[in-house]
Amino acid sequence: MTLDYEDHYCKMCGKYDKSAWVNGGYCYDCFKLHNLEKIRESIEEGEPDTFSSDYVVCPYCGNAMSNEALIDYPELYEDGEHELLCDECGKTFEVDTMVSYNWETHKMEDD
Ligand SMILES: [Zn+2]
Ligand SMILES: [Zn+2]
Repeated sequence: MTLDYEDHYCKMCGKYDKSAWVNGGYCYDCFKLHNLEKIRESIEEGEPDTFSSDYVVCPYCGNAMSNEALIDYPELYEDGEHELLCDECGKTFEVDTMVSYNWETHKMEDD
């Protein structure tokens, strides 16, 4: 498989991102926005699919809160169900947090 120009430049903003091809031709930032757009479309269609690892998206109005905005809500980083008030539409919605862990092990050094 050979990679050419389009594989290393974002088709949305034109920024160089050597892994753009992994994200369907988008740089990391545009890929996030692209996914957010899809979430907002699903809300408009009446079947909210708000699953995201980048944003907490209000299922009523599509308002997205990024990691930076969530610093004030440390409980959202804990596994389980939480409630959040949307500051855009004023409605309260439920947030399911799914925390995943990764482990890697190494042999102890021989002595
Ligand atoms: Zn881009
Ligand atoms: Zn909202």
